[in-house]
Amino acid sequence: MLGTESQPLKVAIIGAGPSGMYAADALFKSKKPVEIHAFDRLPTPYGLLRGGVAPDHQRMKSVSKYYDRVASNPLFSFFGNVTIGKDVTIEQLKDHYDAIVVTCGAESDRALNIPGETLAGSYAATEFVGWYNGHPDYQSRDFNLGAKSVAIIGQGNVAIDVTRILAKSQEELGTSDITAAAMAALKDSTIETIHLIGRRGPVQAAFTQLEIKELGELAECSVSVESRYLDLSPADQSELEGNNKAKKNVEILSGFPSDESNRKAKHIVVHFLKSPVEILGSDKVEGIVLEHNQLQGEPGAQKARSTGKTETLDVELVFRSVGYRGVALPGVPFDEKRCVVPNDKGRVLDGNSPVAGMYVGGWIKRGPSGVLGTNKPDSTESIACLLEDLDALQPAPKRDTCLITELKTNGSRVITFDDWEKINAEEIRRGESAGKPREKFTSLEAVIDFLDA
Ligand code: NAP
Repeated sequence: MLGTESQPLKVAIIGAGPSGMYAADALFKSKKPVEIHAFDRLPTPYGLLRGGVAPDHQRMKSVSKYYDRVASNPLFSFFGNVTIGKDVTIEQLKDHYDAIVVTCGAESDRALNIPGETLAGSYAATEFVGWYNGHPDYQSRDFNLGAKSVAIIGQGNVAIDVTRILAKSQEELGTSDITAAAMAALKDSTIETIHLIGRRGPVQAAFTQLEIKELGELAECSVSVESRYLDLSPADQSELEGNNKAKKNVEILSGFPSDESNRKAKHIVVHFLKSPVEILGSDKVEGIVLEHNQLQGEPGAQKARSTGKTETLDVELVFRSVGYRGVALPGVPFDEKRCVVPNDKGRVLDGNSPVAGMYVGGWIKRGPSGVLGTNKPDSTESIACLLEDLDALQPAPKRDTCLITELKTNGSRVITFDDWEKINAEEIRRGESAGKPREKFTSLEAVIDFLDA
């Protein structure tokens, strides 16, 4: 039987980000004999902890110690630079592993679907985040930081991160692990005004209190929000009841000045009840048209509806920050509408039937919501299903042959956890001279050159 001393369960995890690491943790905590191979297309583990969490939020990054402990289990292996669907197929994984856990996250972004969105100067916030965090996919991007004004669409924590990175002084960014290239580009930035635009009101804003509070504490950037937005309707008042996050947000926003009279070198204007309808410009962004909204619906389910009034902001740069989007993995069922892998508590479904031995966790299971820690109960739930199904799982036909050896024989440069430990130590060493927590490798080639030197 699988999961016994004589036949340890062999599990492949696709994606060594937070949800993959929590899935591995839950498997080890079950005390069942298990061997885990975690694959990642990047040469480095921990996914959004490295490429998404803001470089100036180092405290949040300390959760890597938890993941390190999971990875230190001798029955855990990391195989980086392996793309499932390209280097290895799902069929191959099914042949070699008794169970597969898909934790590949949400790799793309949602679009606004408005005219002008593809103009030069209009970008997904996620691209900018990847760029300043050293994600290899985004290093060739050239954002127009020579702009004077920028519009950020959406008011989630990603929008706040982007706002803060654009607003911080070099000194403030100096202790972060933002890449040297991003630091240099931001040094030359001429941005003076950052418009942070939400389609609903302050009560419905997606950001959290610590994040919005930080915008009021910047060295060279002030913030304002027109006081009329804080004049709450009865529906908003009732929505506030029992909603601590919204209460705190409103309290913090109420403490912000209502105009720009005390503006610093840079200034953030927080707008509410405005939706973008068009990005203007012939070959590059020159402005954005915003439609004014009013809220309609029951408290807790209020939706933005246009009042018919519009305004135009002169901006040369637009970041849409309206959420991440999951991408289909070849060989794994996918719900095109919700952009997630269809599942029942983590058991992957094909139509109404569970796919034998296939599970899913994290953003590709539930959509792009929650903080890193939200993935722990999420992955634990999926692994509980796997453990419940253990008796019914069939041993993989090629479970006794090593897929990694096959991969290496075919010329793939697989990055192991030992390699990662060397990369990690070198990044920390390179950061030390600049007073930074680390200076990241930003390309696969640089990683390989270092490892082979
Ligand atoms: P998010 O929290 O879901 O926020 C998305 C924002 O986009 C909302 O303000 C939403 O407004 C708006 N939006 C969506 N569609 C829109 C449209 N068509 N037009 C205008 N606005 C639109 O997403 P996120 O910021 O990408 O963050 C993803 C997750 O990561 C969140 O759970 C977030 O908390 C987490 N995260 C956490 C941190 C942190 O802890 N510091 C940092 C970064 C990210 P509506 O509310 O009206 O839909």
